Amino acid sequence: MMNKNLVIAVDGHSSCGKSSFAKSIAKKYGLIYIDSGAMYRAVTLYGIEKGLFSAGNIHQNALIEALPSLSIRFTYNPSLSRYETWLNGRNVEENIRHIEVSARVSQVAKIREVRQQLVQMQRDIGKNKGIVMDGRDIGTVVFPQADLKIFMTASLEVRTGRRYKELIGKGEKVSREEVMENLRTRDQIDSTREESPLRQAPDALVLDNSFLTPGEQMEWLENILIEKGLA
Ligand code: C5P
Repeated sequence: MMNKNLVIAVDGHSSCGKSSFAKSIAKKYGLIYIDSGAMYRAVTLYGIEKGLFSAGNIHQNALIEALPSLSIRFTYNPSLSRYETWLNGRNVEENIRHIEVSARVSQVAKIREVRQQLVQMQRDIGKNKGIVMDGRDIGTVVFPQADLKIFMTASLEVRTGRRYKELIGKGEKVSREEVMENLRTRDQIDSTREESPLRQAPDALVLDNSFLTPGEQMEWLENILIEKGLA
């Protein structure tokens, strides 16, 4: 029997399949799935649409001022079998995945006030619930008491290949090099920023899925949950 308020944190590098894995975990064990990266992406989209970027730099103060008025929520769309992100009452699931947002999100995610606000929202969403959340600081900052912390990674080549295929499949005009450069840059900014950088929590279990199928990853997880007496 699954403990109803089980909290699983999935952190790791960009595009290593954290969200796909976290979604499968949620489905299998009846937990709520939250994509914390989508929240940083939604704030970034807001900044782009309001013209808060100039010459590649973000107008920080204006963004910080707008933060309290931003509403970000998630719904599950059964016809598309996916979770969707809403920003101020608008479905932005497609928009937040564009490369233009990916190229700027790490700059926005460095801002302390942005992180404070989103971490608070993430904790509120997770309160008294069984949840799987994926991101960069879930095991280290958002839910340091999580029942299980997973740190995922995969080689840059494998990650580039997966993300490139996904973007091309959606009709985006990107090159492999552009995708690889975006992943490399985001990982670099995310790991070296001052505010809650991407770090492996000391008690996190590492999952390198460069050569693992989704089924093998799930088997890995099932064994761990059994070993820990969590399932
Ligand atoms: O997970 P995803 O790749 O969609 O996240 C987009 C970006 O949001 C990351 O590159 C990172 O800059 C930021 N992020 C973060 N902390 C999280 C989740 C995402 O800083 N918990």
